[in-house]
Amino acid sequence: MKKNKVTVALVGNPNSGKTTIFNNLTGSRQHVGNYPGVTVEKKEGYRNFEGKDFVIVDLPGTYSLTAYSLEEVVTRNFIVNDKPDMVIDILDTSNLERNLYLSVQLLELERPTILALNMIDVADKSGLKIDDAKLAEGLGGIPIVRTNGVHNKGMEALLGSIPQSSDKQEKSKFRLNYGTDIEDAIQRLEPLLIPIYQKLQFPTRWLALKLLENDSNIIDSVKEFTNADHIMSVSNDLRTELIHELGEDVEILIAGQRYQFVGKVYQHAVDNKTVNTVTISDKIDKILTNRMFGLPIFFALMWLVFNLVFTLGKVPSDWIDTSFGIFSKYLESIISDGPLKSLLVDGIVGGVGSVLVFIPSILLLFLAIAVLEDTGYMARAAFIMDRVMSRFGLHGKSFIPLLLGFGCSATAMMGTRTLENPRDRIITMLVTPLMSCSAKLPVYTILIAAFFDEKIAGNVLFSIYFLGIVLSLVMARIFRSILFEGQSEPFVMELPPYRIPTTKSVMIHMWERSTLYLKKAGTIILAASILMWFLTTYPKDIEYSKDYDALLAQAGENYTQQVSEEVLSKLEIEKIDQNVKLAVLIDTIQKEEEKFAEVTKELDEDSPEYVKLEEGKTEKNKELETANGELYSYAAKYVGLTQNVEAEKSKIKNEMSGEELEKSYAGQFGKVIEPAIAPLGFDWRIGIALVSGASAKEVVVSTMGTIYSIGDGNENAHSMTKALQNDEHMNPLVAYALMVFVLIYSPCLAALTVMKRETGSWKWPALSMVYSTTLAWIVTFIVYQGGKLLGLGG
Ligand code: GDP
Ligand code: MG
Repeated sequence: MKKNKVTVALVGNPNSGKTTIFNNLTGSRQHVGNYPGVTVEKKEGYRNFEGKDFVIVDLPGTYSLTAYSLEEVVTRNFIVNDKPDMVIDILDTSNLERNLYLSVQLLELERPTILALNMIDVADKSGLKIDDAKLAEGLGGIPIVRTNGVHNKGMEALLGSIPQSSDKQEKSKFRLNYGTDIEDAIQRLEPLLIPIYQKLQFPTRWLALKLLENDSNIIDSVKEFTNADHIMSVSNDLRTELIHELGEDVEILIAGQRYQFVGKVYQHAVDNKTVNTVTISDKIDKILTNRMFGLPIFFALMWLVFNLVFTLGKVPSDWIDTSFGIFSKYLESIISDGPLKSLLVDGIVGGVGSVLVFIPSILLLFLAIAVLEDTGYMARAAFIMDRVMSRFGLHGKSFIPLLLGFGCSATAMMGTRTLENPRDRIITMLVTPLMSCSAKLPVYTILIAAFFDEKIAGNVLFSIYFLGIVLSLVMARIFRSILFEGQSEPFVMELPPYRIPTTKSVMIHMWERSTLYLKKAGTIILAASILMWFLTTYPKDIEYSKDYDALLAQAGENYTQQVSEEVLSKLEIEKIDQNVKLAVLIDTIQKEEEKFAEVTKELDEDSPEYVKLEEGKTEKNKELETANGELYSYAAKYVGLTQNVEAEKSKIKNEMSGEELEKSYAGQFGKVIEPAIAPLGFDWRIGIALVSGASAKEVVVSTMGTIYSIGDGNENAHSMTKALQNDEHMNPLVAYALMVFVLIYSPCLAALTVMKRETGSWKWPALSMVYSTTLAWIVTFIVYQGGKLLGLGG
């Protein structure tokens, strides 16, 4: 029987290059990272090679196939239950001996297996000489292929060696001898396990070993069978007997035998007399993981990253901002007034646009994380932080999910699967959202740009991130002592060698994240923007406190009258056009004013540039005056009156749209919650933004975009920064308090959903929501009220 699809499973130690090879084989773009625990779920890809269809599965990295951690179980279950046609065991050849430990366990699963000696370049460089034939011989004649994932070498050979081996399905000759006592026990158990083999096709020898190892997972599946009681009593007796005879736990005995076996195979196949013992990585580690310098270097690097993200990201962000401004003006000019225009301009372009502006900063942040990961520094950071972490009741490995939390809490929570202990996992998941995720960055950026000097912007941003880190540690400590008392597991993690990150891997990483962000902008954020637009513009039939239409009409009438009295009648004309010279002069002055307004848009009124430009304007006007005499004063009068009436009208319109917003559905709701957030310095509008932001943190910005562009009747104020600065309620202290609140309060929907999935109950997401919102309130209260006491803000 020939199947038309061949399933190939990629297995190997963390960081051995599985995902790199997976991407090479399938042309896919999975995240490759130079630290353990990046691939937590299995991923599938497809490839057609020489007329055959391959389904390739990238499995999480593991060091072993016991039931110790979730990754080990995921990997083992896939091989045992799904029975892939071929297993490719990918080894980090520069660490051959340790990697072979997993290979041996894979071979015991009795699926057709190929060995890929990956990172062969690194092994060669360090002088490792491997005899492939001897290695294959030691492992029962397994096919071996040398590969280099980064340079895409050996991939064809790998695929090429698949069909023959899986067609033949020849039984592996591999057999590890565990010594007479254990072998006897295996032989007594095996016959009892044949019914299970017939049903599930689990290798009997492997099952027997697992029962002797007291593997809880396997015991559970054996319990489903009718003669389970008998099997279990026999295996328990055998275990006690072995422990009695050999004086040690069977699990340890079996592991010991495996290590010995691997050691022999390694000695046989490798000439390691020439291996360089002190590598460059070791030398670098002497400095970077130094007890004294390690932490300061780490914090300095983090500080650098945040400053870079802010300064470099600003320029392209401004371009995008400007383009959206132009685009919405264009939309305004082609669509007639009405709900559609308002929906498009204020709702969609205002909302989604305000989020897209942050793409450059987010790309930069991910670039920085990608570089830190791919160089191998991230794993060192976890190592350095372990000492600090354990003081707060966290495991050193928790540090990786926490760092991933800077990107996205939802993914970070999946990253907690590297932790063996469920209690460590839950604590880590509860505190991960306190790490400032990339979705919160837009909120900070816009507030910082509006209220803080460019010189301290990086520091302000850093302080928020730092606050998140500190709070997560403190909360972890508290959770550890309230929820789960007891020790966390010791830190065991391998430090990968330092590598120069490849552009490809960094690019893949950035692309993956930015598409995720764009997708969010196109879905959740778009939907939330439309909803918020609706809630902020309706109902339309509200009762105004003033007759705004009459006020506008009045302003227009006053203007006409003033113009006629002070300009027209003096010159004895009825319309401006009747005096051509006057009309031209007015036009010239107006153009000059417009130009002045345009160039000074971004300037402070007492800045030297502004003063200089203003002087230039006065100079020009003087020239016009000398050239035109009395006529100039009439023209200037006319321009002044026109400017005044426009300012007055826009003030009235502003007040009107402010009232519309206040009486809208969202406004009514905001007013209801205002008393609860007023002590934090927030008004009802910020309240609306925060509530809507519970869906996804970027929505805080898009909602503010909608609110402030609607509330600000001025048609030119599409720049949110300006709108915020003009708002009398906002000041640096409120802005900082808002950042603090956004940092801490309830995780987004996506993160809560992942948490439910990972913990299997709504209990933890519910706790997470409640505690973080409460904590946010308390900390923000302290910041805001404390700031006010110190005389800040206002
Ligand atoms: P995984 O954890 O097994 O999926 O490993 P990854 O595919 O994420 O790779 C870990 C790191 O090793 C990345 O930085 C890769 O660029 C790097 N890498 C993968 N294959 C090779 C190789 O053959 N040679 C070298 N020098 N580096 C490699
Ligand atoms: Mg991987």
